[in-house]
Amino acid sequence: MVARVGGDEFVIAAPGMTVDAVERFCAKLYAMISEPIRHDRGEIKVGMSIGIALAPSDGGTPDELLRAADTALYRSKQQGRGQFAFFATEMNEKIIAMRRLADDMRHSLAAGDFYLDYQPRFDTRARRIKSVEALVRWMHPEKGRINPMDFIPLAEQNGLIVPLGEWILRTACRTARDWDGIGVSVNLSPIQFRDRDLVQKVRSALQDSGLPSQLLELEITEGVLLEDAANAREVLEELKSLGIKLAMDDFGTGYSSLSYLRNFPFDVIKIDRSFIMDLDSSDNARPIVQAILGLGKALGLSVTAEGVETNEQLAILTADQCNEIQGYLMSRPLKSDQVTDLLKEIDKMVVCKQERSQSERLARAPGVS
Ligand code: C2E
Ligand code: MG
Ligand code: MG
Repeated sequence: MVARVGGDEFVIAAPGMTVDAVERFCAKLYAMISEPIRHDRGEIKVGMSIGIALAPSDGGTPDELLRAADTALYRSKQQGRGQFAFFATEMNEKIIAMRRLADDMRHSLAAGDFYLDYQPRFDTRARRIKSVEALVRWMHPEKGRINPMDFIPLAEQNGLIVPLGEWILRTACRTARDWDGIGVSVNLSPIQFRDRDLVQKVRSALQDSGLPSQLLELEITEGVLLEDAANAREVLEELKSLGIKLAMDDFGTGYSSLSYLRNFPFDVIKIDRSFIMDLDSSDNARPIVQAILGLGKALGLSVTAEGVETNEQLAILTADQCNEIQGYLMSRPLKSDQVTDLLKEIDKMVVCKQERSQSERLARAPGVS
């Protein structure tokens, strides 16, 4: 609810918003209000300051909340234009820390502090590496390694995921080209989907690297389909027309709507780690995994199980005919040169096997001792 409470003062009451949502909302308000208003004699620019109070922590009644918001507004004005302030100081500290981290991220992207690890994905039957998943890492110059779970949401909030995502895509394609037939999967954030140039960026990453398009797979979560299904479908179809594969990541955790699988051009379903984790402990995890495997089969999709950590889980997945497996049991995420070495080892093993079977055949052949 938006209300004008006098002069140039407005109040917005918004129930059920998280702190992150409030921040995003304020950033959007600033972006909208700072658009110049053009008229025949020039343009008008409007500025604003925002003070935020949260119920129930900052006040339990409308009066208390308005007073708290007013105090926060005063602080916001002191900070200068285009800023917003929370009443509670710990919130402001959190925001300042986040802003600093966002600045560091920008700096790190230019300085080359991000790198990719690659986690192999195996064919369940042959136990051979079929592809690898590119996973981004941030080596912060002071704080050390930061987990993607801690910086991807921030990069999504401040839009840095778009240039970072492009770098990930280009790096993954360039690196995988030297792996001779091994596929590479790249995770895509829903924010990258809103980027009009996404398809062009994927096309150019393929062209510049020389990676055959059928070796690139993009992993997306349901978040993408929820936001704007019509647009998502169009983008997914365009991506498919490049010849790449599409995987639905973390299947089973969100809405897991079956219509997504029917209406969008996926090639692969990745069963979320949480189901695999429960396979050898909970009674109902296996029927769910079996149902997803059945669904994949019926729709002609390949199914990958994520987060396989124990031999029991692997045995169940093999018995239930899951196509592909990924997890710490087979391999943790590796540096790119470790992947190169691993692939060489495997090649050597295959050559050894062939040589052995050849010499065995010769040994068995009559007249040869
Ligand atoms: P995800 O795409 O589902 O990736 C799988 C995550 O599970 C990875 O964590 C991987 O290291 C971890 N994992 C794999 N096998 C096992 C296992 O057996 N046990 C356990 N406990 N964990 C396992 P990571 O690298 O921390 O990535 C977390 C999430 O961050 C990813 O989930 C993905 O959503 C996001 N992410 C990572 N890299 C990128 C990226 O390049 N772009 C975008 N947009 N998101 C990324
Ligand atoms: Mg993934
Ligand atoms: Mg996943």
